[in-house]
Amino acid sequence: MTSPRSALPALLELQSVDSRLLTVMARAKELQTSERVASLMARRTQAIAAARALETAQQEAERAVAEAEREVTRIQDRIDKDTERLNHGGSAKDLMGIQHEIDTLTAQRGRAEDAQLQAMDHAEEVTADRDRKLPLLRAADAEARAAVAERDVELSRLKEEHARLTAERSTRVSEFTDPALLSRYDGLRTARGGGRIAVARFENGTCGACGTRLSPADAAALTNTPPQTVPQCPECSALLLV
Ligand SMILES: [Zn+2]
Repeated sequence: MTSPRSALPALLELQSVDSRLLTVMARAKELQTSERVASLMARRTQAIAAARALETAQQEAERAVAEAEREVTRIQDRIDKDTERLNHGGSAKDLMGIQHEIDTLTAQRGRAEDAQLQAMDHAEEVTADRDRKLPLLRAADAEARAAVAERDVELSRLKEEHARLTAERSTRVSEFTDPALLSRYDGLRTARGGGRIAVARFENGTCGACGTRLSPADAAALTNTPPQTVPQCPECSALLLV
């Protein structure tokens, strides 16, 4: 009967695959819950809303300029009509009335022109503000999209790696010659929440799984384990290749 110890080197290879699988899954989880990407995406959402608000403000400012222009034109048209009426002549009373209306309209036109200038100034400020902020908002958008793309590339690479390692694990398990040892290994590996190192080398008096340096007595007991028994670390229970 062969000693179960003879299967330990193959088990070490399997442990290496299982450890890499754990690393791959941990990294994938880390990427999926990345706070950096989440905060960049939140910034991107804010940037999109801010850009829309800037565009709306600019459109409103342009509408106000157009409206102010129309108002000036409307008053000017009335002044022109009144001037024409004045030039046609009439009774002194009528002419005085028309002149009075022209004076009133001229004052109105002055105020409308002031309002037009203000609207134009405001539109210029809004445009300048938009031109200053839009590149920053576009940069926030681009940065977030780049981070997501980068994350997705790495996730897809990890997915491939995971598939490759899973296939490698299946092959190694199917070729494994000692089912009882394999089941002990899996039991140790998945104990207490899983992700444990279940098999390691015992070198320089130290367990390769938990890193404990054994006392000389424990080390001697380990070295003197009967050949049909697989040595186990007294600290972490890992199967040890002595
Ligand atoms: Zn140990």
